[in-house]
Amino acid sequence: MKALRDYVKSLFLLELMKGLGLTGRYLFKKKFTVQYPEEKAPISSRFRGVHALRRYPNGEERCIACKLCEATCPALAITIEAEPRDDGSRRTTRYDIDLFKCIFCGYCQEACPVDAIVETRIYEYSFENRQEAVLTKEKLLAIGDKCEAQLAADISAQADYR
Ligand code: SF4
Ligand code: SF4
Repeated sequence: MKALRDYVKSLFLLELMKGLGLTGRYLFKKKFTVQYPEEKAPISSRFRGVHALRRYPNGEERCIACKLCEATCPALAITIEAEPRDDGSRRTTRYDIDLFKCIFCGYCQEACPVDAIVETRIYEYSFENRQEAVLTKEKLLAIGDKCEAQLAADISAQADYR
């Protein structure tokens, strides 16, 4: 009996018709896919993209070289060197993040007492060589300068969740 049913199904292409019917039903429904890269999906304020170092409005670096982010990083992706300035404050002389090691867990951002190291909404980046995967302090500060308005808004939105 089953063999006969299968024969009739294949003779009249019933499975194919069923599949085409399903496709047709979704043809005019609201689409869930986006035409990336022309279209972008919405991003959460808690998105963990590439990192940035932030400054205060007067241009001073936020980072006080406490090294909590370096200590908490489970991937050992952060390398910090620091020394005191003439005014006695501590600032980093080197702040590197190796993106090949980073697992984008966000622990560095959580650990930072002054909201200096943060993860941005930037997810479109590529490297042509190994060295480019290391974000230096200069690069991190430049990203922070570029994204400061968005970063400040996202940090304020995240504070509302707590
Ligand atoms: S996101 Fe996680 S893995 Fe990446 S640098 Fe920060 S603490 Fe390390
Ligand atoms: S980024 Fe934050 S946690 Fe890391 S060394 Fe600077 S102040 Fe400390």
